[in-house]
Amino acid sequence: MMMMERKNTILIVDDEEIIKKSLEEVLKDEYNILQAENGQVALDMLAKHAKKIVVIVLDMVMPVMDGLTFLEDFRNHQEYNNIPVIVATSNEDEGVEQKCLEYGVWDFVMKPYNPILLQFRIKNVIDKSRMLMSERDPVTGLYTKLKFYQKVRQMLAEAVGQKFAFVRIDIDRFKMINNFYGVQEGDKVLITIAQELIKISAVFDYFVYARLENDVFACCLPYEEENIEILANDLQLNLKKVNKDYNIKVSCGVYVISDYNMDVSEMYDRAYLAAKTCKGKFVQNIAYYDESMIEDMRQEQFVINAVNKAIEEEQFVVYLQPKINLVTGKPYGAEALVRWMHPTKGMIAPAEFIPVYERNGIIGRLDQYMWRKVCALLRKWLDEGKNPDPISVNVSRVNIYNPHLVKILNKIITEYRIPPQLLNLEITESAFMEDQSLVMKTVKRLHDLGFKIMMDDFGSGYSSLNVLKDMDVDYLKIDMKFLEEEKTFNGKGEKVLTSVVRMAKWLQLPSIVEGVETEEQVDFLKCIGCEYAQGFYYAKPMPVVEYEMYIAREKKKEEQISKNENADMIGELWNTRSSVSILFDALDVPIAIYEYRNDKIELLRSNNLYEEYINIENEELMKQEIVELKKKIKRALVGNLDYELEIERFKKQYCVLAKVLGQRENTWIIMVTYLEILNK
Ligand code: C2E
Ligand code: MG
Ligand code: MG
Repeated sequence: MMMMERKNTILIVDDEEIIKKSLEEVLKDEYNILQAENGQVALDMLAKHAKKIVVIVLDMVMPVMDGLTFLEDFRNHQEYNNIPVIVATSNEDEGVEQKCLEYGVWDFVMKPYNPILLQFRIKNVIDKSRMLMSERDPVTGLYTKLKFYQKVRQMLAEAVGQKFAFVRIDIDRFKMINNFYGVQEGDKVLITIAQELIKISAVFDYFVYARLENDVFACCLPYEEENIEILANDLQLNLKKVNKDYNIKVSCGVYVISDYNMDVSEMYDRAYLAAKTCKGKFVQNIAYYDESMIEDMRQEQFVINAVNKAIEEEQFVVYLQPKINLVTGKPYGAEALVRWMHPTKGMIAPAEFIPVYERNGIIGRLDQYMWRKVCALLRKWLDEGKNPDPISVNVSRVNIYNPHLVKILNKIITEYRIPPQLLNLEITESAFMEDQSLVMKTVKRLHDLGFKIMMDDFGSGYSSLNVLKDMDVDYLKIDMKFLEEEKTFNGKGEKVLTSVVRMAKWLQLPSIVEGVETEEQVDFLKCIGCEYAQGFYYAKPMPVVEYEMYIAREKKKEEQISKNENADMIGELWNTRSSVSILFDALDVPIAIYEYRNDKIELLRSNNLYEEYINIENEELMKQEIVELKKKIKRALVGNLDYELEIERFKKQYCVLAKVLGQRENTWIIMVTYLEILNK
């Protein structure tokens, strides 16, 4: 099959039908022809077809709108800048010709047309404009990157001794304009910037500027802080004029040139590094480059380059931070947080690498690595016969939008034989907001598999209370920092947190508040009915081994606490008619209950046998015994352990057993039993 060669399009503007026809005859083999019978029609056609028109052949004398009036309008359109115009003259008026040249007309042909000559002229201007076009951006008519870099070099060489700044200008949220309002509106914004740059250029002796790509412009101008401010403000003000609803912002990254021999592309890089620091911030729209930015970039590069090896060598380690059930006061599960144990740099905190990995997608891999590690750990605990509480892992934005996420998670839990309810998934609130319906679909599929979902960092983004009801999640995580931002703990923030927790409760969504650091915070959270807390107040994120010890310790405490529940029984003991009292008296061993408080020990109650055997009437003996008891009991209390002691009484050996029955503040209740050791 033969390939059709694309023909260039020529616009012929002439009112005489015969001339248009004859021109079409001559040119139609080589070009597509558009025809307009006057200047106005030609302008309308340009509005539609400007992108494909390569030359305009323009008659001067026409009804409705003549050639000169057309040119006047035409040259005001930046976007037509690259289209050459050839004017057909009858040579009767030199003034017209001069005007045409002022308007930027490329060439003239005499009427009546000489077809051969016209063909040559058209070909010439097309070739020439092609050459120029590579130097000019078709939308704005500004220099393109390469030409701009040359011009900057030239200017700096010319203006030796002057101080210059290289400014990179970009438009925040430009993509949004293109997406929501269409490319034409986007182009309008670009052209507005270009026109403003042209205006500003008139103010300075030295000023070169260009559109480098998409929404990125650059300029190089004599450096003074004021100049940069004027530039940024003018651009911003004019953007507002396009449409004040667009809510777009220009940000300027500035490199004040210190090394004039540096490649211009490197100057650009520095301005870009600076620009990155103001992107996304609402107020600040000018940022200056400083040397530390290069350091940050190097650090970022290091973090990226090192990742493969770090994963291979398992330098990333799971740390666990317990969550506490505020109702029972007991730990309930933990969050897995990554730590990077670098062989030479030591421990690196997530803040140093997670944001970098989020920016370039590497986080997807790191997440999965962490999920595996956590599943392996859960498997180990299950194999050891422990009954582990759920561990939550973070699922970054990249993974939420990964179409294979559900499959990947399913594969991992199957491989390690982990019940899905043991692996909770924390998804950050902002990920929910970006594409709600897609995230909710994923969440639904994860629920179907049995996973529990926590919405992480609630309140940090732009979600409102209202969205909560549409989010089918199982837990809400709220960062305490959220309160700090509201400044006063006793002010608004407290109220907001209260209503968030209440609303969540109403939706049967338990809240976990993280970043809890003080006792007051804990009291407040308990008071508003928050279910779980996580924070340094309870425990910092810790290595797995430490976490295992922590859990073991907590288990032990729990047992102790259940001992304290004996307090009820002690209450019963004071009541001589209670069944416990009767049982106590009927026991076949001497038993006494002592209270230990402020270093004093006091007998509260003893049974009949005790009184008989131990003879509490004998004060001397009792004193001795109390001294002994005190020593032992104190030791026992420090370790909270039961203890034994052997004593001699009435020439008999007794083994004294003491057991802490309960404790309230600084008072311990101790049960002491005397068992006779039979002589062999
Ligand atoms: P996050 O998921 O919101 O985790 C909570 C962060 O708060 C942790 O920081 C934790 O150490 C810190 N934190 C806990 N209690 C307190 C407290 O009382 N006070 C203060 N000031 N901070 C507290 P960390 O470990 O530095 O992690 C920071 C963030 O990095 C995490 O925020 C999470 O977004 C991300 N991250 C950490 N590990 C992973 C991971 O394995 N995968 C992914 N995708 N992200 C992770
Ligand atoms: Mg988290
Ligand atoms: Mg969080």
